[in-house]
Amino acid sequence: MFHYWLVAAIFGHYKEIAKPLRPYTISSIAFIILLLALDFAYFFAGMSGWWILVLAIVYIHLLVLGAVFIEWNFYLRSYNKSGKQGLVALTFDDGPGQETAAILDVLKEQGVQAAFFSIGKNVIAHPDLVKRWHNEGHLVGNHSYAHGFNFDWQSSRKMAEELQQANEAVCAITGKTPKLFRPPYGVTNPNLARAVKKLAMSSIGWNVRSFDTTARDPSQLIERILNRLKGGDIILLHDTMPITREILTELIVRTRQKGFTFARVDQMLDLEAYA
Ligand SMILES: [Zn+2]
Repeated sequence: MFHYWLVAAIFGHYKEIAKPLRPYTISSIAFIILLLALDFAYFFAGMSGWWILVLAIVYIHLLVLGAVFIEWNFYLRSYNKSGKQGLVALTFDDGPGQETAAILDVLKEQGVQAAFFSIGKNVIAHPDLVKRWHNEGHLVGNHSYAHGFNFDWQSSRKMAEELQQANEAVCAITGKTPKLFRPPYGVTNPNLARAVKKLAMSSIGWNVRSFDTTARDPSQLIERILNRLKGGDIILLHDTMPITREILTELIVRTRQKGFTFARVDQMLDLEAYA
């Protein structure tokens, strides 16, 4: 009887066990084991209590860095690059905004299809630009409804509601519900991981951060992006920034000169773009 129970329990959890554990889970298990070991050493072997503090500080730092660096896949698995070496994908966040129309003109002229991770409230304010995205063959993704500074402090239920609201705003215009989501600020945490899972969406990160929101010098910005291209790259840009519109033609031409072909991020990653 016991064996039967054991086999059933193992097979019941097999799928969970077979999934690679997130670094967050592994770090937390390691933290608890080390904490128990240090507690034991403190109470029974006279070890200094400072080691417990050191461990806590290291663990807290890890939690914060894991939230900030989307590439770590710490709390949630994001697609940050592709294995297809000949391809690169352009992604634009925070629109539709003041530069979206001009950026669309450049993409049309150059024959490039990109991804736009949109903010729901901007979608409602500029339905004409969302229609253009869709009609001109670009991917429309979800980048939250409000993109507020408090986004990451919300409960998982609130986050899921916000993502849903942004999906509905896009669907009302294009007739398609986005499945791809880019976390605001690239910040992830356990609540966001649950919300993304609940909505059966996929998180799309990047491996080439352009820093176009703070860049001043157009040629420096172009060089920084080009120098980081290795193939299979996901490039993070913003269609709210004049400098991004300014560099786009040269960026596309020179990326092609390096031998890369542009692909839409969902096609490069073999993911479904819409539900
Ligand atoms: Zn953003």
